[in-house]
Amino acid sequence: MAGGEVENIFAEILDRARTLDPVNTRKWFDNLHVVRLTGGSLEIGCPDEACAQFLQSKCRSAFTKAAQQITGHLVSVEFSANGQVRQEYTEQEQKDRPTLHPDYTFENFVVGSCNRLAHASCIAVSQSPGDTYNPLFIYGNSGLGKTHLLQAVCHEVKRKSPSAVIQLLSCEEFVNRFIQAIEKGDLPGFQSRFRTVDTLIIDDVQFLREREQSQEEFFHTFNALYSNGKQIILSADSPPGEIPSLEERLISRFNWGLVTRIDPPSYETRIAIVQKKAHLRGLDVSEDVAGYVARKVHANIRELEGALTTIYAVSMTTGEKITLEMAQTALDGQVDLGTRHIRISDIIDTVSRHFNIRLADLQSQKRSQSIAEPRQICMYLARQLTKHSLEEIGGHLGGRDHTTVMHAYAKIEELRKSDPKMHATLEQLAGQITQTARA
Ligand code: ADP
Ligand code: MG
Repeated sequence: MAGGEVENIFAEILDRARTLDPVNTRKWFDNLHVVRLTGGSLEIGCPDEACAQFLQSKCRSAFTKAAQQITGHLVSVEFSANGQVRQEYTEQEQKDRPTLHPDYTFENFVVGSCNRLAHASCIAVSQSPGDTYNPLFIYGNSGLGKTHLLQAVCHEVKRKSPSAVIQLLSCEEFVNRFIQAIEKGDLPGFQSRFRTVDTLIIDDVQFLREREQSQEEFFHTFNALYSNGKQIILSADSPPGEIPSLEERLISRFNWGLVTRIDPPSYETRIAIVQKKAHLRGLDVSEDVAGYVARKVHANIRELEGALTTIYAVSMTTGEKITLEMAQTALDGQVDLGTRHIRISDIIDTVSRHFNIRLADLQSQKRSQSIAEPRQICMYLARQLTKHSLEEIGGHLGGRDHTTVMHAYAKIEELRKSDPKMHATLEQLAGQITQTARA
């Protein structure tokens, strides 16, 4: 086959794979290239090792299927980075290579007041491991970015010093490997592996609770690394002192360095995260869609991302463009997002109480600013927080037609962007309305 022809076939395969697996499609797929396409095998060159690992573990079947559909015969697919095909590692090497997610870099991490300190300390530690905060302990609820930050440190350290030995693993994996080592009678192997690294990153250390022997082992690993000035980074769902049945001596060591918390993100940060995630997938979402998703999901960024993925997947399957209506319909079937029971009357109640005006006034024909603006805010919030049509919303507010509602929406959205006070008011109202609806 001529080179150009191979390129064309590969472009088709890539397109097909994107359609087959929208959830895992990323913008950097644009940078994949074909290394080799012969009779039964396709080797795909990736931007880096993490990308190759990601494709191998998440997208292999989509690519295999795509290649088969396009070429009409069975094709085995391999992913490589820097000319090195994966899979050639021994089992042990495989274990010692941290599996990094290509999305989890500092570049892709949105910083807000909720995570500023944790982010800054991770940056500092990755600039000079062992020298600043040691250990670094990050805690926070599930889905707030702990694993993302730990992996970002790992990406960065590897980038700066490719030969540095880094172990990044979940605490569960640490415990399992410890147990296996005991079973195989290879405790010395285990110990030398973990006590000689340059950086040790253990995710979710709350898993150590009630595992006495593992705590003992971890204690010695910690001491060995610490006394050699090696960096230790830990994450957990609560601060050291609140992890049940964690030994006092570990609690005290975990507190030696910096302990920092990640809080749930604010509305602005959530919008920025939705946009960042969309961008990673090569998507453009308008501000009203990002705002809608950000209002719908509050406390867990994993769910925020899940909502975006759902919208994307629906758009891929139906070929529809991502609009606010489309996003609302796509997320309609989702439970647990906390806004399912919001009624227009809840919105009107909350808004009239906030501005201290009467319901009758909101529904009247009065046009004074003190009444017209709260009325427009009702329309805006109804459109953001419910699935009612423009007509229905207008109907609840004194029988106004859909163009009036559209106009109100656009005007308040404009104000929200230009006027911080309006922004804060909308945030507060939306918060109250969601609370009422949940109660
Ligand atoms: P945790 O380990 O705290 O449970 P994760 O690190 O797994 O949470 O994060 C869950 C998801 O949310 C991941 O996809 C991650 O990329 C994303 N995420 C969390 N915080 C941020 C952030 N500040 N910016 C971008 N993405 C984030
Ligand atoms: Mg995690």
